[in-house]
Amino acid sequence: FLGKRGTRDREEKFRLLKMKVGDLHGVPVIVRETTTIHEAVVSLFLENVGNLIVTDADGHLAGIVSRKDLLKVTLGNPTASSMPVSLIMTRRANVTTVQPEDTVLDAARKIINHQIDSLPVVVPSTTGNPGEHWKVVGRITKTNIIKMLLDMVAEE
Ligand code: ADP
Repeated sequence: FLGKRGTRDREEKFRLLKMKVGDLHGVPVIVRETTTIHEAVVSLFLENVGNLIVTDADGHLAGIVSRKDLLKVTLGNPTASSMPVSLIMTRRANVTTVQPEDTVLDAARKIINHQIDSLPVVVPSTTGNPGEHWKVVGRITKTNIIKMLLDMVAEE
């Protein structure tokens, strides 16, 4: 009995280690760089998310803006609501991303190491510069990952 249990535990662990971002990620909530801070706050509420992914006119990843970024700028300056989100977003070069073939475990590590809530899921752009331009295909969050763990436990 113990032997079987041990084998099953190892299989479960193996399955967990093999899970890919592409199997799990959700639909990205995206706004354009020109979106105003006011519109971004409205989107946060309507879409019920904590982060918005920002793209440029070609649909490439430009940055990410979080609820705290939006709170910070509007608290200090009531006229900020008409400014574009591009002024306050965390810019592309500093955005942590994952690709669909990365493991969920890699995504979890990035989220914990960078103390963030979510990661844009990206693939290299076929129209822009390779390594510089990324197409956003999804979004993976702490909640997605916890839900996956609960589903795995429920399946047992
Ligand atoms: P909140 O602001 O609600 O705490 P986060 O913890 O996700 O939300 O974001 C904290 C900070 O990190 C914000 O300034 C945000 O712009 C930035 N941020 C969020 N996600 C990422 C990411 N994937 N890569 C880099 N920076 C991020």
